[in-house]
Amino acid sequence: MGLFDRVFRGSDEMYALAEKSVDETIKQLGSDAPVAFPNTAYFLACIYAYTGLKVTNLGELKAALTPIREMMTKEKRTQDIFTSGIATAMAAEAIEACKYAVSPTPYEEPYHGHMSDAEVRELGVPLVTQDIPGFVVMIGPAPSDEEAAKTIKSYQSKGIFVFLIGGIIDQAVRMGLNLGFPVRVVPVGPDLWSVGHVISLVVRAAMIFGNIQPNCYKEMNEYTFKRIFAFVNAYAPVDDMTVACGAGAIAMGFPVITNDTEDMWRVPKSLLIQENTEDFIETSLEARDIKIKVTDIDIPVSFSTAFEGEIIRRGNMRLEIDGSRKDCFELSRMRDAADVEDHKIELIGKDFDEFEPGSKICCGIIVEVAGKNMQTDFEPVLERKFHNYLNCAEGIMHTGQRDLIRIRVSNDAFDAGFRARHLGEILYAKVKNEYANIVDKCQVKIYTDPDEVKELRAEANKVYDYRDDRLLSLTDESVDVFYTCILCQSFSPSHVCIVTPERLGLCGAVSWLDAKATNELDPNGPCQVVTKKQVIDENLGAYADVNEAVMKYSQGALERVTLYSIMQDPMTSCGCFECICGIEPFSNGVIIVNREHTGMTPLGMTFSEMASMTGGGVQTPGFMGHGKHFISSKKFMKAEGGVQRIVWMPKALKDTVADKLNATAKELYGIDNFVDMIGDETIAEDPETLLNFLGEVGHPALGLDPMM
Ligand code: SF4
Ligand code: ZN
Repeated sequence: MGLFDRVFRGSDEMYALAEKSVDETIKQLGSDAPVAFPNTAYFLACIYAYTGLKVTNLGELKAALTPIREMMTKEKRTQDIFTSGIATAMAAEAIEACKYAVSPTPYEEPYHGHMSDAEVRELGVPLVTQDIPGFVVMIGPAPSDEEAAKTIKSYQSKGIFVFLIGGIIDQAVRMGLNLGFPVRVVPVGPDLWSVGHVISLVVRAAMIFGNIQPNCYKEMNEYTFKRIFAFVNAYAPVDDMTVACGAGAIAMGFPVITNDTEDMWRVPKSLLIQENTEDFIETSLEARDIKIKVTDIDIPVSFSTAFEGEIIRRGNMRLEIDGSRKDCFELSRMRDAADVEDHKIELIGKDFDEFEPGSKICCGIIVEVAGKNMQTDFEPVLERKFHNYLNCAEGIMHTGQRDLIRIRVSNDAFDAGFRARHLGEILYAKVKNEYANIVDKCQVKIYTDPDEVKELRAEANKVYDYRDDRLLSLTDESVDVFYTCILCQSFSPSHVCIVTPERLGLCGAVSWLDAKATNELDPNGPCQVVTKKQVIDENLGAYADVNEAVMKYSQGALERVTLYSIMQDPMTSCGCFECICGIEPFSNGVIIVNREHTGMTPLGMTFSEMASMTGGGVQTPGFMGHGKHFISSKKFMKAEGGVQRIVWMPKALKDTVADKLNATAKELYGIDNFVDMIGDETIAEDPETLLNFLGEVGHPALGLDPMM
């Protein structure tokens, strides 16, 4: 029997299982019973992506089985094993969908099951910046528990996102690995058909970031091949259904690496037999052309973006640098070259092992840099990265910034030998590595002596104040140039952000100063200078220079954008926006919803559903993705009347932006405590209740000109 037969047999088996699940679930719940995965606007995403069918109930799911069956043709042509493979993934999704029809939470710990649209989007930025260079789907079990753990950790330390399916999950659990979305090792499900959730994530990424339309088979597979660096590791013995799914993976451009030799063919770059499972990683990375950034840092624990989301609980904490209780701060300063000795790391005060276990300690961290291209404006750009850098160390958790930092050191990290100096090693290595064009020399001073820290903290506060004043003076009018950011084009090929002092990138991670520093670092890189000499309409924020830049950097896909309007040529969105703003027609205003909010909005749509209309680098007047900081900007929807149009926001978001938004509303419109006039989910989740509330508080939007 050859590979073709194995694929066809596998797809037959999966189809039979799908049909059986659907029939049994219909018998139990009836054809009209709803079927949906939670927190997605893409229906059953695999079926939707490949057939265009919007399945919402079991009857429709049953009907969708027909086109799935039709894709499982049996001609012995290569093309046919690929379409059969994709159809097998769709059948797998149908089986999973039945589980969710019966219960909204069919999976228990450790299994993750379906991934939400928010989780798909969360991957956007790190995939773009190559912090996540790729995905692996490991279908197990591996030959031994030890090998499973070793391979998973090795992928993790390379930043590769890991999905686990089948017996390898039990192995990971037995070995005590830390699992979950935040640490980028997701145990999807115990059965092969849970692979449907991974394919669902991939096709949603293509629809969200690449604006790939449903039912475009060729475009979909081209996008996944070119933009998503995934691959599969399938441990022997591999059954026919796995082989069939593997054919689907290959159709999407994802190589399959296996140690099963029975009736397997080698297909260069696509189906690779590697009998030594310990070499899976190397073979996989080579097959998918994934290059791993090497950062050699002299610390006793692992270092990878995979550990960024790691949480260290009180019980597992050796000590804590706690800015809420003690004097603490972190600061980056520009110095003269003569005053910086490269790679000097100094500890002034006691080291970690000289404190009682469980202590909360004082700590000041000063990173001093010198360089020809360094500017004081770049100090906060570097400093803001400390958070990401320190978090990448396994067993170290960093939150907050400035003099409100909190750094936890886990018992494991301490036992491995992690000491104060290592914080410096991390900061030194990363700053030198990532800012090579700006930073020629770097030294780090770590203070743990309480008196000294207290004194230095007061000085640091002066620096923070100075920077805040400087930022306030940076307005769109006060600068001569804006910047493009096209980082997200690796996913959203036609998307361009225009970054201005008062409008940061929609991901929230790129401010005007960041863009300026990026341009300095890499003059031919993603952030290019955009002049603003040819004003078309100041109120709209329309400039001929901006339009030219957008036209050029979107390769002609986009002709015009305005900086300050949501209605007329609004800026496009890639998919990684922190928030979405959308018109609320009854109140004449807009609502804003942030990615973290999973509940309903008064537009009758969740964040996910609104996001599905906003991403992919296309303009959708009335909807706009943006960063959180933009909400309190004086340029927020300036063309339509500014912040006074905001009628609803989730409560948590309101709390985050309250101070600044109140200040803006007061300054521009003389409104006191504006945030109290804005609805939230505790006040209204439907337009009528919202409108009543707005009337009661006398919200200003009600008196403005209609937007449409
Ligand atoms: Fe992507 Fe825009 Fe953020 Fe740049 S600024 S990373 S293009 S979202
Ligand atoms: Zn993006």
